[in-house]
Amino acid sequence: MAAQQLRLPPLPTIRDLIRLYKLRALKQLSQNFLMDERITDKFVKAAGKIHNNYICEVGPGPGAITRSIIKRCPKKLIVVEKDPRFLPTLELLQEASQGFTDMQIEIGDIRSYNFEVGFQNNIKYDWLGLVPPIHLVGNLPFSVSTILLVDWLNAISQKRSAWLFGRSTMTLTFQKEVAERIVAQVTEKQRCRLSVMCQMWCDVDYKFTIPGTAFVPKPDVDVGVVTLIPKKYPLVDLPFAMVEKVVRTVFNMRQKHCRRGVEVLFPKDLRETLGPRLFQLADVDFTARPFELSNEEFARVCYAYKMLSDQYPEIDGYNFRASKQ
Ligand code: SAM
Repeated sequence: MAAQQLRLPPLPTIRDLIRLYKLRALKQLSQNFLMDERITDKFVKAAGKIHNNYICEVGPGPGAITRSIIKRCPKKLIVVEKDPRFLPTLELLQEASQGFTDMQIEIGDIRSYNFEVGFQNNIKYDWLGLVPPIHLVGNLPFSVSTILLVDWLNAISQKRSAWLFGRSTMTLTFQKEVAERIVAQVTEKQRCRLSVMCQMWCDVDYKFTIPGTAFVPKPDVDVGVVTLIPKKYPLVDLPFAMVEKVVRTVFNMRQKHCRRGVEVLFPKDLRETLGPRLFQLADVDFTARPFELSNEEFARVCYAYKMLSDQYPEIDGYNFRASKQ
């Protein structure tokens, strides 16, 4: 079947369905719905090839993006939605897609969804080869999408979950400001912990902006669509928690020389010795500010920290904030 041409059987509009099932957006789940098919089509196009591929949509809600996905005839579509009120509208789409897409509905929290079961029939791709035909897409609430992204970066670093099958790609929405942070390059004002963490493991791309006015109800901010493709060769090969600790601690003093942030990685009695040692080992200028460090420099800082924590095991468990409390 021609991928782009599929016409779904006549279905009520998303607007009608919302009215019919009285699906008032729930504030506590930060629900904002997309109604404009041109935008949902553009969003799905940003994810790349859908036809004959395996897709997981997180937070489909009443199903506007889901429709745009189904029109492109994926082989399998798994939708994971926390709010059970959307089950009837999703079942309608499941019925309409019968015969050309295997659509599976999961009611539950995406953070506990097991991709290894969902994609179990998918063949595993070599990490260094082509990306597998698996895409994760979603327009999630802002608070959830950032937490989820960090969870997923952790899974990527361990090549588990959806990344057991290779370098599965992601197309997600974020509050525009957060999307800009994810892709921020060295010295840009949005550069932060999230920029470095994402760029250590993924190639990131800001695709386009969806104006807040495109959503019902309208959020206070615009929305950025970002794609993330796991790197063949991540910039660090160290435990995620260790990298996260180093990057977070350094960025805690964003406007100060990075020496200040690095020092507090070490207990007080070791700071004077190990701070300068770390910069020497990493070959990084300690007077640079955190947002002026490249991803590669951050990677070297992490490796130097690892070397020192092998020599001084007591620094591994040291937590500056806890020590202050
Ligand atoms: N995708 C729809 C659209 O674009 O119109 C709905 C978007 S709405 C911003 C976010 C959706 O994610 C809601 O349907 C909400 O119930 C769902 N959601 C929120 N947290 C979730 C979670 N942890 N797991 C799965 N779905 C979640």
